[in-house]
Amino acid sequence: MNPRSAPSGTSLAERARRVIPGGVNSGQRSIPGLTDLVITRAAGARFWDADGRAYTDYHAAFGPPLLGHNDPDVNAAVAEAGQRLDLCGVAVTEGEVRLAEALAELVPSIERVLLTSTGSEATFHALRVARAATGRRLVVKFQGCYHGWHDSVSLNVISAPDRVGRPDPISTGILPEVLDATLVLRFNDVAEVRAAFAAHGADIAAVIVEPVPHNVGCLLPDQEFLVALREECTRAGSVLVFDEVITGFRHDLGGWQKISGVTPDLTTLGKAIANGYPVGALGGRADLMDLFSTRPGAPAFFAGTYNGHPAVVAAALATLDKLRAEPVHAHVFRLGERIRAGLTEVFADLDVPAVVTGHGSVFVSYFMAGPVPRTYDDLLRNDAGMFIGYRRRMPEHGIFELPLNLKRNHVSYAHTDADVDHLVEATRAAVRDTV
Ligand code: PLP
Repeated sequence: MNPRSAPSGTSLAERARRVIPGGVNSGQRSIPGLTDLVITRAAGARFWDADGRAYTDYHAAFGPPLLGHNDPDVNAAVAEAGQRLDLCGVAVTEGEVRLAEALAELVPSIERVLLTSTGSEATFHALRVARAATGRRLVVKFQGCYHGWHDSVSLNVISAPDRVGRPDPISTGILPEVLDATLVLRFNDVAEVRAAFAAHGADIAAVIVEPVPHNVGCLLPDQEFLVALREECTRAGSVLVFDEVITGFRHDLGGWQKISGVTPDLTTLGKAIANGYPVGALGGRADLMDLFSTRPGAPAFFAGTYNGHPAVVAAALATLDKLRAEPVHAHVFRLGERIRAGLTEVFADLDVPAVVTGHGSVFVSYFMAGPVPRTYDDLLRNDAGMFIGYRRRMPEHGIFELPLNLKRNHVSYAHTDADVDHLVEATRAAVRDTV
């Protein structure tokens, strides 16, 4: 395209706001102070905007591109699938069979698995089948965990201090009786879990949890907390759902359940398993999964026009091949460690109270004195002004970290040691200019 005829970011963003509410297609994509950002290209560790600026990307679309943007091997597999096949919407394809077999082999809880197009659909169906199997009403979730946009889980994600400990819907338009059917507990609080089961165990259909709540940055789980969830669900006959939409493939091909040795009844996956192509998956115990209406006559309705789309399945298989064949996890874990160490040093040098935490390829800096936070209540000490303020300055250094409170960063296989050096020094400058 002739660069002189290419529309500027400002003009495209203005056109977007006229026809798209807020100018973006998903909540949390519209960023105060960056309202003219229009993306035109992405490759490897970077994206480019309509005005030709390059950004090294640590937001990573909330997590999918573990291999980096526009991975050539994944794209080649998608193109090859497109030459051969598109959506037929009947029966099954060889790719779906191979992907289901691979997920069942890799993820400890998965005996059977179904594909969706998003993580939200996967968590929705997990709760539907849990209610179908148990005949019970209540779902337990934890403050700070996000499981998608549907009603049962649309509460108590990032709550203001005065909303913690009581229902805090993230949306209007939800029936109060749906919200009433969700109990919100404190992550890493074993006593509260045991008390909730003592009081309501016979009515709890499911416990759904991000084993590592990455939707508030990174709260690492106490092993005894995950074990307590497993024990209480087993004792009460409730379904334990690990929402591994972020942790799945990113931290281990077997998810956090492989790392922790705690096996849930159902697992939801998404994001990194297809490196950015729209996918979700729900898998788990055969007796639960066999309740879905993909089996003739089974009672729990399950459908989706685009489920198992050949392009998405090809992307997932190619992602998996690369994760198995190349030292992706070793690379991103090493860079993650380097970043955490480098940023810790920067904040100490600048005498800025901060805790740098994360796991593997995920990192986040909270602006608060130590120790490392374990609960959502600990995160209330984070200085949101600093958290957002320095991130707003990072684009001046050619780096993008989402400037919204508590959002995590991700490293991909495409990031390099030079990117890490640049990130550490850019953070030093941005923080110095913010305090
Ligand atoms: N579960 C977790 C842990 C997530 O982080 C998300 C999305 O951020 C979802 C579920 C919903 O996935 P999707 O946005 O693909 O519907």
